[in-house]
Amino acid sequence: MGDKTEKTFRFVIVGGGIAGVTCVEQLSSQFPDAEVALITAASLVKAVANFKQVSKTLEEFDVEEQPSSVLEEKFPNLTVVQSAVKALNTHTHTVQTVDGRTFGYEKLCICSGGRPKLLTQGNPYVLGIRDTDSAQEFQKRLSKAKRIVVVGNGGIALELVYEVEGCEVIWAVKDKAIGNTFFDAGAAQFLIPSLEADKPEGATPCKRHRYTVEPAGASHTFTDEDRRGRGVGPTEPGSALGPDWHEGIVLRGAEEVSHRVSVEYQCEVDSIYTHQELLKSPQQTLVSEGAGSWPVYVKLTNGKTFGCDFIVSATGVVPNTEPFLHGNNFALADDGGLRVDDHMMTSEPDVYAAGDVCTACWEHSPLWQQMRLWTQARQMGWYAGRCIAAHVLSEPIELDFCFELFSHITKFFSYKVVLLGKFNGQGLGPDHELLVRCTKGQEYIKVILSGGRMMGAVLIGETDLEETFENLILNQMDLTPYGEELLNPNIDIEDYFD
Ligand code: FAD
Repeated sequence: MGDKTEKTFRFVIVGGGIAGVTCVEQLSSQFPDAEVALITAASLVKAVANFKQVSKTLEEFDVEEQPSSVLEEKFPNLTVVQSAVKALNTHTHTVQTVDGRTFGYEKLCICSGGRPKLLTQGNPYVLGIRDTDSAQEFQKRLSKAKRIVVVGNGGIALELVYEVEGCEVIWAVKDKAIGNTFFDAGAAQFLIPSLEADKPEGATPCKRHRYTVEPAGASHTFTDEDRRGRGVGPTEPGSALGPDWHEGIVLRGAEEVSHRVSVEYQCEVDSIYTHQELLKSPQQTLVSEGAGSWPVYVKLTNGKTFGCDFIVSATGVVPNTEPFLHGNNFALADDGGLRVDDHMMTSEPDVYAAGDVCTACWEHSPLWQQMRLWTQARQMGWYAGRCIAAHVLSEPIELDFCFELFSHITKFFSYKVVLLGKFNGQGLGPDHELLVRCTKGQEYIKVILSGGRMMGAVLIGETDLEETFENLILNQMDLTPYGEELLNPNIDIEDYFD
C-alpha cells in the first residue's frame, strides 16, 4: 500500500448501511472524545427511525436514507469519508480508498453488505435488485415490459411477484413450494390465492424518506442525473434496500392486467438466449411454434423455454468481501462471508465485521439462525460496536440476548408475517411435529414442537399470538399436556399461560 497515511482514527467503520451506521452511532456516542471515521461508497447513509420493541425479541423500525452530513452534525467526533475502500492492510492497520487516500485505524469494523448473486454476469437482459438504483432501473424496464421471468424463491422474489402489475410474470422456483426460505408448502398454499386476486386498495404509505446532499439541505427525490453526478454507479454499490423497498415506486408493466403470475416449480435456469442465439440453437423451432418474438429467452431445467422482456435474478446475495481480502488472511465461511466469532471479530486482529458481509460462526443458540435481514444487520452493528468498546476498555461482554431467539416481523402479500425460532424446523431432523391452524384468507398459524417444547412458529395474519408464543419458545415449557388444544381457536391461549 505504501501511500502516506492521511490520518489515523481510533475506530474506522466501512459501509453506510444499517449495520455500519448503527455501529458508528454506538461508538461515537460511547466515546465522544475518540476520532471515528465512516468510510462509505454511497453518498447517502441509512438510519433506523421509529424503532419499536414489539416484544422481548421482535423489533420493528422504518429505514431512512440521509445525507451523511446529518450523522456528522449529530456526532462532532465523526468524519464521513465518501469513497469506496479498495484495499486493506491488516499489518499496518490501514485502509486505502479508491480516491487514493490512506487511513489508519486502531479498530476496524467491516460492514460492506452484499451484492446480488446474478445468474450470469454482464448480460443486459438479467437484472439484480439490491439498491435504490437497481430498483429504479427495474421500474423503468418494467414499464415497457409485457412479460418478465423472475428467478429465485427468497423474500425479494416473493415481494416482487406480488407487487408487479400490468405484466405477465413467469416465476421459476427451485423448490416444491413458493417462499421456501420463509415458509413450508402449507403456508405457500395459503398465500397462493393472493397472487390470483386483485391487490387490496390503499397500499401502506411510503415511509422511505430520501434526501439530496444539496448545500441548502432541501429534500427531493433523486433523479438519474443527480445520481450519476454523484457517482453512485454499479461499481460503488449503495446500501441494500429494506423492507419497504417497493413502496413509492410503481411496479407496473405495459399491459392492462393486475396479477398474472405462473409458477414453474422445482426448476432452475438452464440457459439464456437472445433472439438471434435462439434462432441458431436447437431450440429454434420454438420461434416458429409460436413462442413469439422476445428480446431474450430462458430455458428452464424442466425443459420449458419462455421468451420475455428481461429476467430478474433474485437468488440471494454474495457478501462484499473482495476489496478486503488481498494480502490478508481472513477466514471465510462457505457462503463467502467473513467468519466472525461471538464478539463479531474476524480472524484478523482488530478487525470486526457486521451485517450481510459476515457469517456468524459462533455456536448458535438452538433457537437462532443467521438470515441476511435488516433486523440482524442492526443487531449485529450495534453489538459489534459494544464489543469493540468492551475490548478497548478491557471489559467482559456476553453474547447479546437478541441472538438467543430468531425473530422476524414483515409483510408478504399484504399479510403480517411473524417468524420465530426454528420456524421451518431448520436443523431439527425428523424428530419434530407440527400443529397448524388455517383460516383461508385470514390466518395461517404453524407451531413446531420437539419433545413437547415449542421450537418455532410461523404466524401469518393478525393472530396476536406472537408474544405468547415467543414466551413459550423462550421458556421451553413442556406443552405435552396441552396437545392440539394449543391452537384451539376457542381457547384464549394468552389467558391460559398468564
Ligand atoms: P448494506 O445495506 O448492503 O450496506 C452496505 C454499505 O456498504 C453500503 O452503504 C455500501 O455503499 C457500502 N460499501 C460496499 N462496499 C464498500 C466498499 N468497498 N467501501 C466502502 N463502502 C462500501 N431485509 C429484511 O429484513 N426485510 C425485508 O423485507 C428485506 N427486503 C429486501 C429487499 C431487497 C430488494 C434487498 C436487496 C434486501 C432486502 N432485505 C430485507 C435485506 C436487507 O436489506 C439487508 O440484510 C440489510 O440491508 C444489510 O445491511 P448491511 O448494513 O449489512 O449492508
